Amino acid sequence: MSYQSNSKGYYGDFGGAYIPEMMYQNIHHLQNCYLDIMESDEFKKEFKLLLQDYAGRPSPLYYSDRLSEHYNTHVYLKREDLNHTGSHKINNTIGQILLAKRLGKTRIIAETGAGQHGVATATVCARAGLECIVYMGALDVDRQSPNVEKMKMLGAEVRPVHSGNKTLKDATNEAIRDWINNPVDTHYIIGSVVGPHPYPDMVARFQSVISEEMRVQLKEKTGRETPDYVIACVGGGSNAAGAFYHFLDNPDVKLVAVEAAGKGIETGESAATTQLGRPGILHGSRSLLMQTPDGQVIEPYSISAGLDYPGIGPMHANLFTSKRAVFLSATDDEALKAALYLSQKEGIIPALESAHALAALEMIDFKPDDIVVVNISGRGDKDMETYLNYYQSVR
Ligand SMILES: *Cc1c(COP(=O)(O)O)cnc(C)c1O
Repeated sequence: MSYQSNSKGYYGDFGGAYIPEMMYQNIHHLQNCYLDIMESDEFKKEFKLLLQDYAGRPSPLYYSDRLSEHYNTHVYLKREDLNHTGSHKINNTIGQILLAKRLGKTRIIAETGAGQHGVATATVCARAGLECIVYMGALDVDRQSPNVEKMKMLGAEVRPVHSGNKTLKDATNEAIRDWINNPVDTHYIIGSVVGPHPYPDMVARFQSVISEEMRVQLKEKTGRETPDYVIACVGGGSNAAGAFYHFLDNPDVKLVAVEAAGKGIETGESAATTQLGRPGILHGSRSLLMQTPDGQVIEPYSISAGLDYPGIGPMHANLFTSKRAVFLSATDDEALKAALYLSQKEGIIPALESAHALAALEMIDFKPDDIVVVNISGRGDKDMETYLNYYQSVR
């Protein structure tokens, strides 16, 4: 069984392209040409060079003595937090801007939650000299103001979205609306492995550099290319897709995806899609989705803006139902504790999203000789206000 998408963009029962007729031409064109473009030698060369010289790849694989001792196992941290712009998001935006140029597009739109994808998109647009418009929920504009300022300084226009609960889902709706109205000159850079085919597959391929590097780095450090565990947080699922990608067909590698439980799965304030969701269609693909009995999307909640999404990419829906990956969830409190712990034991302040993956270390019984890789998807600069509030309350 393959865990990759088929040519129609299906991962098992999930995926596809459920789109309004007015998006058809854009999506169809992208479906027809994305692989040819991505697999051309010229594209691969340019992408690789930018990942290296502009984004700073390869990102280090760091052996954490202190976490290893604490959990009585071997813990490695994949340092996506050290990338230019502070997260894994830059891998995808570099890839998509190169694609957009080859498609002859002159205007870029994007949605953003925590602002990391917005900043990464504004960054590559500045470099490419393309107009950039970022849709962002009004609540997220408030709670992630450093990233809003960065986008503006980079020359992007940030459009606050006031519908729904004013977070990521609503920003995505608005970006899709824009694309329908501007189909000819505009490329939509989606920030995760969500959306209609070919986005989930395309974004997963751009992010797969994470696990490609891990294999080389693990071989160098441990003599083995494969670890026993790979742990990553899941919003839409792009950092997890990248961290899992080259291990999908190694059944001995346990893949652990960590969702945001918010205030607790039973509280009605959470974003743990696999635990609470049912199959449904959102933003152009069939996947698992938090919804009411009559199919209305339930507003998600997480303290972490990057995980505050009611769906999950179709790759992950399939990894969940096929049981290839284990899905755990961490509450706001568990993530905050894990972030403080890493900060004080290793001198690394992780993004709140990544802290959910770290929290999973508490939930698994590792053997002393296990090799565990935690994907640190981003750095915590953008979350300092949240962290300081928490830190003051526990001191
Ligand atoms: C956006 C973001 C996430 C969540 O998105 P995925 O597509 O699930 O990876 C996680 N961590 C960081 C640092 C982010 O910026």
